[in-house]
Amino acid sequence: MASNWTPDGWKAHEARHLPSYGDVEKLSGVETTLAKFPPLVFAGEARELKKDLAEVAAGRGFLLQGGDCAESFAEFHPDNIRDTFRVLLQMAVVLTFASKQPVVKVGRMAGQFAKPRSAPTESIGGQELPSYLGDIINGIDFDPATRQNDPERMVRAYTQSAATLNLLRAFASGGYANLRQVHQWTMDHIGRSPWGQRFSEMADRIGEALDFMEACGVDPRTVPQLQGTSFYTSHEALLLQYEQALTRRDSLTGDWYDCSAHMLWIGDRTRFEGSAHVEFLRGVGNPIGMKCGPSLEPDALLRMLDTLNPGREAGRMTLISRFGHEKVEDGLPKLVRAVKREGHPVVWSCDPMHGNVIKTESGLKTRPFERILAEVRGFFAVHRAEGTHAGGIHIEMTGQDVTECTGGAIAITDEALADRYHTHCDPRLNGAQSIELAFMMADMLNL
Ligand code: PEP
Ligand code: MN
Repeated sequence: MASNWTPDGWKAHEARHLPSYGDVEKLSGVETTLAKFPPLVFAGEARELKKDLAEVAAGRGFLLQGGDCAESFAEFHPDNIRDTFRVLLQMAVVLTFASKQPVVKVGRMAGQFAKPRSAPTESIGGQELPSYLGDIINGIDFDPATRQNDPERMVRAYTQSAATLNLLRAFASGGYANLRQVHQWTMDHIGRSPWGQRFSEMADRIGEALDFMEACGVDPRTVPQLQGTSFYTSHEALLLQYEQALTRRDSLTGDWYDCSAHMLWIGDRTRFEGSAHVEFLRGVGNPIGMKCGPSLEPDALLRMLDTLNPGREAGRMTLISRFGHEKVEDGLPKLVRAVKREGHPVVWSCDPMHGNVIKTESGLKTRPFERILAEVRGFFAVHRAEGTHAGGIHIEMTGQDVTECTGGAIAITDEALADRYHTHCDPRLNGAQSIELAFMMADMLNL
């Protein structure tokens, strides 16, 4: 357990991107309420995920992490949860089939609500208001009352997370994820993509493999791994008031865990020495992710690893690189070399989204599919050259047929972006683009 650590010790450190709440009494009332609510995950589950990630760190598996940039109250609907879950399952099947290695599935779901923003305010038509900070803090409508920070939103975010997690658990273990269903996961809009056909062919081959097993006397119904799947949740541990309220001492080990999700990560903007976010996550036993962008120097990364994982426990740290397609091949090798030299057991994962944002002429934020793919290729090339394991992917995606990232096989043009641009923050890959990316990665894994 971390020394000199308390759940509220972060308050003595520099906290960037935390909202200020005018009504401190209301805030402390909400914190007290949340602290009495049941934990959303159990510490034992976080330890299971850590074990799975330790396997990935050792080169025996792959991490697939994905979901919305920001979950929202407005898009809370069982169909949205189901569709994102099933695209993640489809991607996992594609990757497992290609790599013949287990794929650890982690949703950016059931808690991904708080957002760091590049500017504290936003101006539209001469009016300046506080920026939208995610539904757990304020509302997206450009209106002075909605943009006020309201601690009560934390309770709603908790409730939505609990219901989302409940459905995810039901899908994962209640029959939906059964490999016999693999054909049924295909959605209409994915069928329009050439990759829909390829998925269907792969599903046929999986069906044949199951038939073969059955003919040999192995009843797939008796194999739990074929009947269901494990699925974990994660989000950026940004809103520390909320994270602290859900931090509990595990009754089995006596250690602290942040029970708002299985895995928590530190964003690129809150990753610095002396950061309140680093201080908070240092003391919880969950698996931790850390975004690594171009501003991170190898020595600073090593110091951060010593702080967050002094015992060098495998599965504890996932380093999520997000350089942008032009910088990855220059910037990533020095980090990979330093970590390898010092013998830190980490999962290296690639976030090909956050370094590849551009604005179109019409003012919409987008990410061209080719750039996303180029960063993933660069990431694989670096790890191949360094003799390290390209262990995972971290993406912003949805099962919905949105038009937020340009390109892909069903080529979305700049002009088409406005058709179904629904994101509350950054542009996401749609279902078809996500499957396409999985197939492209499958080819890279096989090289
Ligand atoms: C994010 O993952 O939504 C995010 C803000 O990323 P980063 O911290 O890498 O910019
Ligand atoms: Mn984002």
